[in-house]
Amino acid sequence: MVIECKNYEEALKIKSIITKRIKKGIFNFFINDNYEKTYLIINGQIDLLTDEFLHENNINKVFSSLEKDFFFINNEVINKKIKIGNRIYNPNDNLITIVAGPCEIEDYESLYETAKELKKIGVSVFRAMPEKPRTSPYNFQGIGDIGWEYLAKIKEELDIPVLAEVFCEEDINKAKKYNIDLIQIGARNMQNYNLIKKAAQSKITTVLKKGMWCNNIQLLKAAEYFFVYGNGNVILCERGIQTQENTTRNTFDISAIKYLKENSSLPIMADASHGTGIREYVIPVNTAAVLMGADIIEVEVHIEPNRTIKPGDFYQMLNIEQYKNLISELNKINNLKNKRFDFM
Ligand code: PEP
Ligand code: MN
Repeated sequence: MVIECKNYEEALKIKSIITKRIKKGIFNFFINDNYEKTYLIINGQIDLLTDEFLHENNINKVFSSLEKDFFFINNEVINKKIKIGNRIYNPNDNLITIVAGPCEIEDYESLYETAKELKKIGVSVFRAMPEKPRTSPYNFQGIGDIGWEYLAKIKEELDIPVLAEVFCEEDINKAKKYNIDLIQIGARNMQNYNLIKKAAQSKITTVLKKGMWCNNIQLLKAAEYFFVYGNGNVILCERGIQTQENTTRNTFDISAIKYLKENSSLPIMADASHGTGIREYVIPVNTAAVLMGADIIEVEVHIEPNRTIKPGDFYQMLNIEQYKNLISELNKINNLKNKRFDFM
């Protein structure tokens, strides 16, 4: 349940009225003061908070989860200020963002060379992960702590916003320490709700990737946490789901882009690199995603894919020439749809 309050003090007062008058009720309370209005969020035995009780006590309920699933995510009144690299997201400005870079950080030289070449062609945010979750414990797990320093150095030397993946609270603290612009919660962690709460509280814009075994509603519910515990700084990402199809790494759910767009007021990202796992499919599927309404494309690029640590994400990684082609193909769609890149 969500109660709209005048300010923090009123939220505290309402909390105390409820706990005193409904002594047997089991509730959790959370006060969110990040928006123009203050919201008291309550879960637990909310069926005890009847309309009569709320009315008698002058409590202004704006949402009950007994009636609906979502309050914040598709609420146009909640003023969202989602920072994507160098801009604040505005669904009406027809801008396309490109987040590109290698899967994981391997060494400073390849990282810097990749970032430098991407910057020459045009890119909005540079991505590279200090650590990687791998299905097999024998696959390279990333270089760890020093990776955060490398990323911070790239940000400074090339003056480019950066993105890194987080696995735990410690990583979120590192992201804060190194002034990382965007953090990512990977598909394998989309339902790690403790991590989600910490990311939400950090207020760093977070890319939330749809779990490979999850559906759109589960993704939206996970994203709603960012509004309850933070200020809604979240980007929804379609990165392919697991189906019986095994000719591609994952099945990129193109219609999810449209569904998420229509059922949230959040920026929607498409990741055809993991979505297909096949280098040759990355450009066409990303093109389709922009046509479906994606605001952001995330793509894996390496200065020299042949040199990347294998197997890793070698088969889906574009080289610089292919990245150039991606940008020029997307530019055709931009012209057709009256859109433009946010870095041009
Ligand atoms: C990635 O972005 O490199 C990644 C591992 O993505 P996902 O969590 O979608 O597998
Ligand atoms: Mn990857």
